Amino acid sequence: MPNTLTFEWLLGPRGFEASRTLHLDPAGRIERIEAARDPHRDGYLALPGMTNAHSHVFQYALRGCGERGGLGTFWQWRAAMYALAETLTPEDLHAIATVAFVQMLEAGYTAVAEFHYLHHLPDGSRSGAMMDAVVAAASDAGIRLGLLPVYYRRGGFDRPAEAGQRRFVHRNLDDFAKTLARCGEACVGLAAHSLRAVPSDELAGLVSLADRSFGPASPLHIHVSEQPGEVRDCVRHHGRPPVLVLAEAVELDRRWNLVHATHAGLLERERIVESGATVVLCPLTEGQLGDGVFPAGEFHDRGGRIAIGSDSNVRIDAWEELRSLEFAQRALTQRRNVLSGPAGTGATLWCEAARCGAESIGGGAGRIAPGYAADLLVVPRQGLLAGVPPDAALDVLLLAAGRGEPVDVYVGGRLRVAAGKALAPPDAGRLERILERIWSR
Ligand SMILES: [Zn+2]
Repeated sequence: MPNTLTFEWLLGPRGFEASRTLHLDPAGRIERIEAARDPHRDGYLALPGMTNAHSHVFQYALRGCGERGGLGTFWQWRAAMYALAETLTPEDLHAIATVAFVQMLEAGYTAVAEFHYLHHLPDGSRSGAMMDAVVAAASDAGIRLGLLPVYYRRGGFDRPAEAGQRRFVHRNLDDFAKTLARCGEACVGLAAHSLRAVPSDELAGLVSLADRSFGPASPLHIHVSEQPGEVRDCVRHHGRPPVLVLAEAVELDRRWNLVHATHAGLLERERIVESGATVVLCPLTEGQLGDGVFPAGEFHDRGGRIAIGSDSNVRIDAWEELRSLEFAQRALTQRRNVLSGPAGTGATLWCEAARCGAESIGGGAGRIAPGYAADLLVVPRQGLLAGVPPDAALDVLLLAAGRGEPVDVYVGGRLRVAAGKALAPPDAGRLERILERIWSR
């Protein structure tokens, strides 16, 4: 790992800075930033690396399933997902995750929050092997992993778990604590799958378990209000919509990351803004699944915090995720530059999602500043940015960039992607054999 990295431009917390050298400590954190003597050495424009704040990495193998007429709703897609989940071994998961994590790095993500609920072995027996497979894949790929073991207790508000959910479920929090005892340093916090899968009177206990296991500031995640049917069931069961149920059951604060929140009403969105919780939006998956569109522009204008996630991993691309987010808001409001700020739409969206995303797995990254990890995306001057001044660069990238740009990616100061290609490419043949097996069923 180099001791210094020098860039012609970097995007720091106060905006663009010219000719800067980052001095790194042995752990790959930025110790200090100084004026550079040779500004061109390591690249043109360095941006804070993006955290993928919501991923179910096994679903990468599900791409293309559920795209025919008979699987026309979210719930039918979910049945296809369960059928896949039933078959995957730890070796399969490692092969799938390695390919997906490498793609994340090549797509501008330097870290991933893995919302992990495929806990048990195919025969239902208990093991740490599925979690270990995710950890090994992240290590092999070189991406920073924030593993979030997911508590999943039942099939619906008033239903026990179905057969297809048996690899996900725990009997109670004590049972879940045994799974946590098998997890190592990669675990940073906990998740409740959703209000339909976790009784609201167990949420406070889950928060206590997170406090004891990972500390009182450790991140907490939950799927919320993704589908109108789920919101209706919640109102029928609790008399209130999901975010208000959550806010009564726990202290809703900055630790919380609410995934989707697509159908949260005005009162719920106001409650989220007040609490400082982050909404994790996954526009490519939400579009693919036909979830709906969260009014992110209005939420952002009120000071709401937004991160992005690749969720089902149907397409892994940080720029495209942000572009889909902004374009959906433009279509919704018939305005332009909806998720914008004084630095422009591209820089505002990228920096906010990078900062909130990093905090969704415990912080320590997401800014180019002393004390933060040197997790960086470095964009070259040639190609899309030829002739473009730095302060317009992120607007160009937001509109036009995607995975495949000749970027360099550093994680903790280590080069993981050079000119768009991972330095540790995965064994794609293993994934091919798994996909052939899945598609031949
Ligand atoms: Zn999800």
